Order: sequence, then C-alpha cells, then structure tokens
Amino acid sequence: MSDVNDKFRGLLEGAPDAMIICRRDGTIVLVNAQAEKLFGYQREELLGKAVDVLVPQRLRPQHAAHRTAYVEDPHPRPMGAGLELFARHKNGTEFPVEISLSPLETEEGTLVTSAIRDTTERRQFETMLREKNEQLERVGLAKDSFLASMSHELRTPLNAVIGFTGTLLMKLPGPLNAEQEQQLRTIQSSARHLLSLINDMLDLAKIESGKVELTFEPIESQTIAREVADSLQSLANEKGLALTLDLPSSDIMVLADRRALSQVLLNLVNNAIKYTNKGFVHVELRGVDSIVEFSVADSGIGIRVEDLNKLFEAFSQVDHSTTRRFEGAGLGLYLSQRLATLLGGRIDVESDYGKGSRFSLRLPRA
Ligand code: ADP
Repeated sequence: MSDVNDKFRGLLEGAPDAMIICRRDGTIVLVNAQAEKLFGYQREELLGKAVDVLVPQRLRPQHAAHRTAYVEDPHPRPMGAGLELFARHKNGTEFPVEISLSPLETEEGTLVTSAIRDTTERRQFETMLREKNEQLERVGLAKDSFLASMSHELRTPLNAVIGFTGTLLMKLPGPLNAEQEQQLRTIQSSARHLLSLINDMLDLAKIESGKVELTFEPIESQTIAREVADSLQSLANEKGLALTLDLPSSDIMVLADRRALSQVLLNLVNNAIKYTNKGFVHVELRGVDSIVEFSVADSGIGIRVEDLNKLFEAFSQVDHSTTRRFEGAGLGLYLSQRLATLLGGRIDVESDYGKGSRFSLRLPRA
C-alpha cells in the first residue's frame, strides 16, 4: 500500500478534515494528521486495522452492512443521510460526526475515502439555537395571551365608567352644576382615550399572533368612504373643519375585509382631524387600473421629511412637542399599515410640513 501512501499522503495532509482511506473490506490504508488528532491514535496504530475500531461498538453491525452496500455502488455521497452518525475516540468516548464518502480508483482496485468532521460544536450550537427559539416563542405566546386577556379585563370596567359618566352627563339621575359637568366631561374623554388605547393593544396582540381573521369580499368603495366620513363628521364639525368627500359616480369595487378596511380608513381620517387645527380634511376615491386608491388629505400641521419613515413604526409619535397636545399611543398607523399589508395593499404618505399631509391607501380592485 506504499504506492497509495506516496501518491495521496501529501494531498490528504493539506485537507481541513480528518481523512481515512480504506480498502473495500474496511482495512485502513491511509490516515492524515487531522484523523490522528480527531481519533487520538498514532498513524501506525491504525494502518492495516479494520476501520471498525473508529466506530462505537454498538454501531458496528450496522456499519459493516452499510460498508458492504457502499462498495457495491460506490459514488461520492454523505454517509448515513438523515442519520446521526457517531465515531469512537481511542479513549472510548463517542462524538457526533459528519462523513463524506467517495470512491478512489487505484491500480490496486477501488478504495474508499472518508472525510470526517466532528460536529459536536455545531450540534451544541444548533441545540442552543433551538432552545433559544423555543424560549422566544413561549415568551411571545405568553405576551400575546397576556395582552389579549388584559385588554378584555380592562375593557369591562372601563365600559361601566364610560356608560355611567354618560348617564350622569345626560342628567338622568339629577341636575349637575357647571363644575360637575366639566369634570365629568374630562372623565369621559379620558376614559374614551384609554379605551381606544386598549383596543389598539388588543388589535396589535391579534395581528402579532396571526389571529386576525379576514374575510375578503368585493366591497363598494363609495359606501365605505361615506360610512367613515359620516361617523367622523361631528368630530370634524366640533373643530370647525370641513370634512369633504370626492367620489366617482360609477361604482368602484375593492377586494378587502370590510372591518379591516373601515378600521384603516377611520384611523387615517381620525388622524387627519386630530392633526389639523383649521381648514379641511378631504377624502378622495379613485380607481387606477387594478388599484383602488383612498386618499385622505388635510391642511394640518404636516410632518417633517425626516420623520416620514418613522410614522409607521409601533409607538412612534414623530414630534414630541405635539405629544401632549394630541394624545395617542403612536400605534394607529403601525396597525393600519399592518392591516393594509394583510389586505394586499399599503399606505403611503406625502406631507408638506406646516401645510398638510396626504395619506393614500392602495388596495387591489375586485
Ligand atoms: P397617534 O396615536 O399618536 O396618532 P399614529 O400611529 O396614528 O399614532 O400616528 C403616529 C404619528 O404620526 C402621530 O403621533 C403624528 O405625529 C403623526 N401623524 C399621523 N397622522 C398625521 C397627520 N394627518 N398629520 C400630521 N401628523 C400625523
């Protein structure tokens, strides 16, 4: 076997992996330095021995069968695809390995080359990653269910607060003096605000956990736009804003989930009213090729160019000096964009700081 040794030794010594060359019957004819190191043997101890010494005792019968099968059909391939392979160190310990086999034609017949790599570290790493992933998943699930159940628990008493404040303000139980009425209005608006935050949190939890159920159907866009404008008309009136609609006369059908679409539009129009002190909020509907575009333009405070891309992040309120004047959690646009994506569309924004903004929701036409 000295021929083989001479020919291939130099080649094998340079290989990064432990390499062992055997005859068809499993006799070792060549090992490189990496193999000596990996298995803890001196080269001389291995040459001429059966390769089985490097296989754990318990796996030797299978190994023999596999070796016979391989020499009958030798071609380059990984050993034991899909199986966990183990090798045996001289000191008796086992370690996981990955082995590639390839036939080597020589004058002395076909030999089998094995390149062996210790995968202990990789496996430890994989196990660690898997555990970390499972842990993260558990934390995520716990967070979602915590949020969902807390939101429900919080809404119940809040509905009572809002309901009874309303009854008091309607003076059903009896008359109120001006001071009492003023304070009750504060309670009412704070409670409503809190309720909308809780609703946002609940929506967020649902979206994040993939639990939003959408029913896609063709919807007449005009109807939705009108419904949204109607429900916010009084809010705009209270601020002295003109809330106007520009709708094409022929029906434009959009393919969407009714509730999600309303929610996104309500949020855009509500924001436009919230961030506009005088002038208008204008809702326009257009059908462009296969797209339906709802745009909400306002003559409000506008958004700085550098803040435009932050808008759709969770808990983002771009201008902190406005935060106190316009209360909100900064979740609305984040949720709206997530919903728009789930509906197969997206929201874009253009703005002229100090002059106004335009948010456009584009969705597929039915
Ligand atoms: P918020 O609850 O604070 O309104 P949103 O996610 O709906 O949260 O909006 C994020 C931020 O984007 C707002 O805090 C505001 O600074 C800005 N913004 C949204 N809509 C408008 C608008 N029409 N005009 C000016 N700024 C807006």
